[in-house]
Amino acid sequence: MSNEKIFVTKSSMPSYEEYIDAIKPLWESHWMTNMGVYHQQLEQELKEYLDVPEISLMVNGHMALELAIQSFGLPEGSEVITTPFTFISTTHAIVRNNLKPVFCDVKEIDGTIDETKIEDLITEKTVAILPVHVYGNICNIEEIQRIADKYSLKVIYDAAHAFGVKYKGRGIGSYGDASIFSFHATKVFNTIEGGAVTFSEHKMYDKLYNLKNFGIRGEELVVEVGANAKMNEFAAIMGLCNLKHVDANIAERMQVYNRYVNVLEKVNGIQLFTNNSESTQNYAYMPILVTDKYSLTRNKLYEVLKSKNIYSRKYFYPLTSDQACFKNKYKYDDLKIARRLAEQVLVLPLYAGVDVIVIDEIIHTIRQPQGEYEQGKQ
Ligand SMILES: *Cc1c(COP(=O)(O)O)cnc(C)c1O
Repeated sequence: MSNEKIFVTKSSMPSYEEYIDAIKPLWESHWMTNMGVYHQQLEQELKEYLDVPEISLMVNGHMALELAIQSFGLPEGSEVITTPFTFISTTHAIVRNNLKPVFCDVKEIDGTIDETKIEDLITEKTVAILPVHVYGNICNIEEIQRIADKYSLKVIYDAAHAFGVKYKGRGIGSYGDASIFSFHATKVFNTIEGGAVTFSEHKMYDKLYNLKNFGIRGEELVVEVGANAKMNEFAAIMGLCNLKHVDANIAERMQVYNRYVNVLEKVNGIQLFTNNSESTQNYAYMPILVTDKYSLTRNKLYEVLKSKNIYSRKYFYPLTSDQACFKNKYKYDDLKIARRLAEQVLVLPLYAGVDVIVIDEIIHTIRQPQGEYEQGKQ
C-alpha cells in the first residue's frame, strides 16, 4: 500500500490548459460576475443536461435551498417534514427560514424518507415536505406528491446528490415544486462552489433572481429584500468545462462502483442500499452498511481502513437532529431506522481516476478485516 492518503472523493477538474483557455476572455471583458455570458450559457446547458423546465444558478447548494424555501413565502414558525439522515445543510436551511423541521424516519432499503410515516406527522401547521434523494437514491416521488396534493403542501427536494439522475425518463429536478442541486467541489459535477434551483413555474425564475441579487431591478429600483447568492463567471466556466467530461466521469464511477458491489454484496454482514429500478444512477457515493453480523463494528472498520491511509467517511453520522445545535429542540422520537443507518453507514472512496489497486485493497480489507486488523496491531 502506498503512503498516499486516499480520501472519499477527489474533485474533478478539467485540464489546466482547458480552464485557462476558457477563462481568457474574462481579461478582455472584465465581467467577472452579475449574470454574465457564462452564467447564462451554463444555465442553458444545465437546463438541457438535467432535463428540467427551469433553472436558476446559485453561489452554492445551501443558498439554493435557503432561497428555494424562501421563495414560497411560508409563514414563520410553520412546520416542514424532512429527514435527519442528510448533510446538515438540509436542516439548517429550514431553520434559517424561521421554519420548524419535523423529522421523519427513513427507509432501510435506500435511506430516503419513509413516505408511509409522513401523514402521521402532518399537523395544521405543516406547510411543506423537504425530502432528500440521499446518495442519489430516489424518494417515492408519486406517494410524496399524493400526500402533498391531499394536504396542499409544497414539495422541495434536496437533490444535491442526484445530479443528472433521470426518473421514469424525466430529469429528477422536474419533480415537486422545486429541487436543489449542489455543485460543490466534492460533488459529481462541480463549479468549485455552486448550486442551482430547478422548478417548473416560470414566475419562480424572477422571484429567485430577486432573492439572489438583492432584489435589484434597475439602477434606482430595488423591489425585494434579497440576498446575494449569484454564481460568478469563473465558477460558471469551471462548470462549462466540467460538464463536457461529466458523462465520461460518471461512466468511470460506474466501473468502480460495480467493482465494489460485485464483491461486497457477498460479504457477510455488509449490506448495500437498493436504488429505485425506474431511476438512473450517477454513482456519486459508495455507501455500505456495517451490520451486527459483520465481524467488526463500523467504527472499527473505519479505523482499520484509516490505518491503511484509506479515509472513509461516516456520512451521515450523527443525524442532523442529534447535532449539538438541534438536540432536544425538536420532536425526534421515532427515528429508529435513521439512527441505525447512521450507526452503520460508511462511505468508501469513489471517484473517476481512482486507482483500482486501491479499490481492490479496500475490498480485500473489508473481506478479511480480522486478519488485517491483527496485522495492523503488530
Ligand atoms: C452538499 C450538500 C448540500 C449543500 O450544498 P453546498 O453546495 O455544499 O452548499 C445540501 N444538501 C446535501 C444533501 C448535500 O450533500
